[in-house]
Amino acid sequence: MPKSRLFDDSLYQFDEPQPSWWEASIDGNRENIGCELNADVACDVAIIGGGYTGLSAAYHLAKDFQVDVHVYEAGHIGWGASGRNGGFCCMGGTKLETRELIKKFGLEETRKYYSAQMEAVDLVRTIADDEAIDFEAQGDCEWVVAEKPSHFKALEEECEFKVTKLGLPSRMVSKEAFAEIGYDAPHQHGAFAEAPGFGLHPLKYCLGLAQAAERHGAHLHPHSEITSWEKQDDLHVMRTARGNTIRSKRVIVAGNGFMPEHLHTSLRSRALPLQSQIIVTRVLSDDEIAAHNWVTQSPAVNSRNVYFYYRTLPSKRFLIGGRADFKGTELGAKVTAETLRQSMVQLWPEWQNVSIEYAWRGFVCFTADFRPAVGRMEDDPSVYFGFGYHGNGVNNATWIGRELARWLATGNDSKNPIPTHLPTIVHGMTSKIPFGSLRPYYAKAGVGWHRFKDWIDGV
Ligand SMILES: Cc1cc2nc3c(=O)[nH]c(=O)nc-3n(C[C@H](O)[C@H](O)[C@H](O)COP(=O)(O)OP(=O)(O)OC[C@H]3O[C@@H](n4cnc5c(N)ncnc54)[C@H](O)[C@@H]3O)c2cc1C
Repeated sequence: MPKSRLFDDSLYQFDEPQPSWWEASIDGNRENIGCELNADVACDVAIIGGGYTGLSAAYHLAKDFQVDVHVYEAGHIGWGASGRNGGFCCMGGTKLETRELIKKFGLEETRKYYSAQMEAVDLVRTIADDEAIDFEAQGDCEWVVAEKPSHFKALEEECEFKVTKLGLPSRMVSKEAFAEIGYDAPHQHGAFAEAPGFGLHPLKYCLGLAQAAERHGAHLHPHSEITSWEKQDDLHVMRTARGNTIRSKRVIVAGNGFMPEHLHTSLRSRALPLQSQIIVTRVLSDDEIAAHNWVTQSPAVNSRNVYFYYRTLPSKRFLIGGRADFKGTELGAKVTAETLRQSMVQLWPEWQNVSIEYAWRGFVCFTADFRPAVGRMEDDPSVYFGFGYHGNGVNNATWIGRELARWLATGNDSKNPIPTHLPTIVHGMTSKIPFGSLRPYYAKAGVGWHRFKDWIDGV
């Protein structure tokens, strides 16, 4: 373990699964996936990180290109964000507004980006269909629910823009109609339905993807943290915490918010991990669901700057998530869980007496440029990376994992530039964040500013 992590050590306990609803509802099929590395090994491609990025890359490398690929994961498969997220398989991946994307990258590239986002949502469903993964899909869009009438107007403009300029199949739903087909509550003033999108059981998806990758010939090694990495001639030589050695021709770094930046200088201060936390209630009674006329199966977010994301689950539990504290301590997690509960009963007052049964947290990954990063190290074209999905990794990590696999498998590293079909928005390493150890403070300041704007706005 590196001497100092960015956040509290409690966030890097690879031997401990999160106390999440997802872990409690997977029917115990996790432990027979892959095996801890217990011998020295040589392979064509070594992947660091057993979440969606690493597993999708491994799945596609093994299935489509018969590449000898090994995935190394410090915890169990899906220990990171991929096993503990909110299960929104929806559009996103960048924190730049659509208009900012157009200004910076042009209309054509922005269109390309959005069409890749749609393709990425479809890709998740296609993998599930092809590999018979039952991940409990729910709904057909992501609702952005207006918290005030003025927010509805702003969402209407955004919707119009996305439909006419970018060709998205999105639509607006009035307050009255949303009360019928979505839910009813004092803070809903209509909604923007961003499509395509749906909800899923994130850990079931992750484990299903892992099993599919194994079936196609990928080797998975949970509980095998990479602790050192050097280059010897043309080979990457990595060691695990247990002391085994891996020799590989190429490496894919798939660490996202848990980026092992101590392993390679080029990775330092590129990722900005931010904590997100989720709580899940006990099973709601039919009367409690009816009290807010909760009809929709689709996941939702509300329209404030520092928003909450929420959905009802097939088990009739309610899930709500939001931004957590900036140190990452266990005490901070307890405080955040209570704050989330209070926000829940403020937004859905009929649920005053609904208790919370699960609370957990993890890192989403921002970047200095507020866009995902896909590329190869400038000083070593045999090292590939994909990260920075800004809280939208279910579709993005799956898609980028596949794109990394295709790129890596179809060319000679140094003569094979990033494929031109990928939108320029995701091209290459993102800017280095100055004074990297201050990242939690930058995040605190940024989120604090947005919270202040929400407060001025009265939400
Ligand atoms: C609370 C929460 C809610 C979220 N909600 C959503 C949502 O609803 N929808 C959505 O699209 N996205 C959501 N996200 C984000 C999404 O989960 C991530 O973007 C996505 O899972 C990233 O996948 P990944 O494979 O790149 O990274 P991860 O799944 O984080 O995997 C990285 C892995 O690398 C491993 N690793 C790190 N260092 C080493 C090392 N030295 N050796 C071996 N392994 C190592 C880690 O153990 C980790 O498992 C959420 C995230 C969180 C935390």
